[in-house]
Amino acid sequence: MESACLPELDGIASGPAARRNTRAVAVRYGARQVLIGGQAPVVVQSMTNTDTADAIGTAIQIKELARAGSEMVRITVNNDEAAQAVPAIREQLDRMGIDVPLIGDFHYNGHLLLSKYPGCAEALSKYRINPGNVGQGAKRDTQFAQMIEVACRHDKPVRIGVNWGSLDQSLLARIMDQNGSRATPWSAQQVMYEALIASAIESAQRAEELGLGRDRIVLSCKVSAVQDLIAVYRELARRCDYPLHLGLTEAGMGSKGIVASTAALAVLMQEGIGDTIRISLTPEPGGERSREVIVGQEILQTMGLRKFSPMVIACPGCGRTTSTVFQELADRIQTFLREQMPLWKKDYPGVEEMNVAVMGCIVNGPGESRHANIGISLPGTGETPAAPVFVDGVKTVTLRGERLAEEFQAIVENYVKTRYGRAPQAENGKP
Ligand code: SF4
Repeated sequence: MESACLPELDGIASGPAARRNTRAVAVRYGARQVLIGGQAPVVVQSMTNTDTADAIGTAIQIKELARAGSEMVRITVNNDEAAQAVPAIREQLDRMGIDVPLIGDFHYNGHLLLSKYPGCAEALSKYRINPGNVGQGAKRDTQFAQMIEVACRHDKPVRIGVNWGSLDQSLLARIMDQNGSRATPWSAQQVMYEALIASAIESAQRAEELGLGRDRIVLSCKVSAVQDLIAVYRELARRCDYPLHLGLTEAGMGSKGIVASTAALAVLMQEGIGDTIRISLTPEPGGERSREVIVGQEILQTMGLRKFSPMVIACPGCGRTTSTVFQELADRIQTFLREQMPLWKKDYPGVEEMNVAVMGCIVNGPGESRHANIGISLPGTGETPAAPVFVDGVKTVTLRGERLAEEFQAIVENYVKTRYGRAPQAENGKP
């Protein structure tokens, strides 16, 4: 039949724009290598909030972040005690079997600490240098040079990390002067954008002049407002080909921090901008630091840029679900999947692509469940107390009773083993 009445779909495109072309920066520890840029998958990183001088406490938090999936972990190195603790942290991590590369975050005294403690400089896999915090006046250039020389000597990459809260004041004054002589002066906001971008690019160029390879430099220009971040990174991406670290600084707590980070990063990554991300969430009191890792992974996974963990598709519930059974089941399955991933990742390759649907009633339940690898459609209010389970689109069993959650979890686990388990190898190597 003619489809003349259907709209023309040829122009509809799906997926992000092509990634910017950048030279890959390798961040290494032992046999582990994490690539930033150069079309490598967008890297998720995080930062500790322990006192770095507390080597054991810091190593434990790094382990938590690494186990959650952080591919690099940054620690502040703010004083002698912290710098002295860095090799001990690395050794402790080695003992725990954690090979995640460590990044040292330096402000004000980085030139002194990196020179005075070569063990610290060596144990770190990358240095973060904030050009607004390396020194004032004439000391600025020499102290910046000192840090770059240490990076060259130890063959470490650096992130030139500009932050609008600690912008290089001399550079800002220079740009304000230049702006004053423009026929049409920029707004204060445009001056700020220009100062951030110029600080990052000029510092990177200076680092190259000092001998640091172009393939050893990552840039960031962090601000705390979504529209500012998008504007700054679009321009930064247009003007250079260094890999970019994305993050909304001081994103905030809870849903506000998650939403603001997602809004900013999603726009940029959809445009192909961004090679590594960090979500700067303020933890809830007593909350886990690794939440920022999970949020970063979920942003990338829901955008279709990477796959980390099986996804649970759950309906929001409505007046048709007057009990909490389906919420509890969705939560239980999500937690179960995430907890299993450190082991499953090794034993069941591809499991991160699995979808599990947990639906609240028959309105959308069976349909959504059929589209998932495994789905369950729970009974809504007034429906027959039975929950059909669908595996690869086919209804296989109907669960009932108090052990429904345990039984569904067992079905999921069995599916993973059967579908993603490697075929056992016979002694001659043939299956
Ligand atoms: S699937 Fe059912 S319970 Fe869930 S939101 Fe839709 S109508 Fe409500």
